[in-house]
Amino acid sequence: MAKTERTYLDWNATAPLLPAAREAVVSALDMVGNPSSVHGEGRALRMLVEAARRDVAALVNAAPAHVIFTSGATEAANLALTPNYRMGRTPLAIGHLYASEIEHPAIREGGRFVRADVTTIPVTRTGLVDLEALETLLNDHDKAKGLPMVAVMLANNETGIVQPVKAVAEIIRRHGGLLVVDAVQAVGRVPVDIEALDADFLILSSHKLGGPKGAGALVSRGEVLMPAALIRGGGQEKGHRSGTENPAALAGFAAAARSAAADLPERNARIAGLRDGLETGMRLATNDVIIHGADVERVANTCFFSLPGLKSETGQIAFDLEGIALSAGSACSSGKVGQSHVLTAMGFDAALGGLRVSLGAGSTQADVDRFLAAFSRVVSRRRAA
Ligand code: PLP
Repeated sequence: MAKTERTYLDWNATAPLLPAAREAVVSALDMVGNPSSVHGEGRALRMLVEAARRDVAALVNAAPAHVIFTSGATEAANLALTPNYRMGRTPLAIGHLYASEIEHPAIREGGRFVRADVTTIPVTRTGLVDLEALETLLNDHDKAKGLPMVAVMLANNETGIVQPVKAVAEIIRRHGGLLVVDAVQAVGRVPVDIEALDADFLILSSHKLGGPKGAGALVSRGEVLMPAALIRGGGQEKGHRSGTENPAALAGFAAAARSAAADLPERNARIAGLRDGLETGMRLATNDVIIHGADVERVANTCFFSLPGLKSETGQIAFDLEGIALSAGSACSSGKVGQSHVLTAMGFDAALGGLRVSLGAGSTQADVDRFLAAFSRVVSRRRAA
């Protein structure tokens, strides 16, 4: 039987490994030594890790010293989201976490906060964090328990909607709190600058950029205000994240970061053209397709849509059988497709399924054409059903 041609349209779940990242990983794997060793072999690996730190820092306009490497964004989130901070040597309590309703589970689970100390910030029907609600929550915050911490992502992984993080920061500054920004889906798609965003911490992940899976970073604004370590041991990463570094993964992460920073406007314009063509084609095929976030700022690569009457799970399987890899946006680790918490947060009916197409640097017009052909078939089968 002929192998079906596959079309990969799930870059927000993970981006295909970039050739440059692969090369960097493979050559680092062949290096002998431990980056903490003082001999020549160890020093060569230390240099590689520190060069990776500079590349990742440059991607978000941070100081290299402010990058803590982790095993991914989930670990970075669990490191940042804790009630226990230090201001220099002095312990500092964070009393409560306010996280937007549309955060990725890595954030929504609240890290090391107990459930009772986590409150969600609602989003509006347009999918933007509700700034008035945040203001009210922070007005009511009990400072006696400690400072408030707010977590709002820069770009949502399901809809691609860009959140008003700068405005969120302005509110937080008036209330004297901390801002943690999950920038996983934003880097390489919109310019991300920790200073311009006025964020205290940024969370990054390598595999969303075309680097290997299992690497990420927590980037801080300074070095004075820092969370209690999550992984304690030999004191690597200045004691913030113990355990021997993974130089191969970090070299791959750095290569992906360099590539994400290069040619951003040109790459974005090309991807936006593909995405806009895809959406026009969908609308021509059926007039009842709902494209979420079409009227607000979105990253250029993401299209999250609903077809009334088509469940996420059924749609995902139908497209998979057509050779198209896309996502329901909310697949959990078991692979089971649940209701999109983002659509629910935006006030849509729980029965409305959502499907996400996400493109990347390697996406082509041929990918879009194959998707649209499959889309028409899925739409007509839905009508026939
Ligand atoms: N945050 C967002 C917005 C994501 O899309 C993801 C990955 O799906 C994560 C966090 C978790 O990243 P990682 O796989 O590096 O733990």
